[in-house]
Amino acid sequence: MNLPRSLRSLIESFEKLPGIGPKTAQRLAFYLLHVPQEQLEEFAQSLQNLKKNTVLCSICYNVAEKDPCPICADQNRDKSVICVVEQPLDVLALEKTGHFKGLYHVLHGAISPLNNIGPDELYIKQLIQRLASNVSPITEVILAMNPNMEGEATAMYIKKELEKLSREAGSRSAGENGNLKITRLGQGLPTGADLEYADEITLARAIEGRKEF
Ligand SMILES: [Zn+2]
Repeated sequence: MNLPRSLRSLIESFEKLPGIGPKTAQRLAFYLLHVPQEQLEEFAQSLQNLKKNTVLCSICYNVAEKDPCPICADQNRDKSVICVVEQPLDVLALEKTGHFKGLYHVLHGAISPLNNIGPDELYIKQLIQRLASNVSPITEVILAMNPNMEGEATAMYIKKELEKLSREAGSRSAGENGNLKITRLGQGLPTGADLEYADEITLARAIEGRKEF
């Protein structure tokens, strides 16, 4: 390819993004050639600030500007319920429904042996630690993984870990952490689809119709 080096390097950067093939990468790069310089600089600035100005909340691992994030810092949220989701975008989708007033825990993915993603690549250990060392008691954990194979495998894994934790806590001091309710989002979510694409009404119904898992 006899393209100028800067164009070539931009195309290569685009190709590394999910869902972008070589053709799209070329199209995007050539499109940007026609965009005014100020706009390009704004774009570049956003890219440079992306990681510099964001942190992971040390409680729920959501992406935020501050640690703890506004949801964890909010005194009006119900701290006894934790909704476990795969991605930060799922938090956004659930918040839009206005039907959930508890806290979240973001795993940043799902267990997927095909893609070499095991439990250790996700923030599952942190969830267990959070429950084990909680100051105020947590009475319910909602497993809101995507309704697909990876989501199901992740939910099963977490359920087992939580039951182990409940048994240990139960043997230490009877009943104190031994009656943790584990629920899964209700039916109606389209199977195989991602939570973030579900519409608000379906999602709100899924929260209200959650069942013991
Ligand atoms: Zn948080």
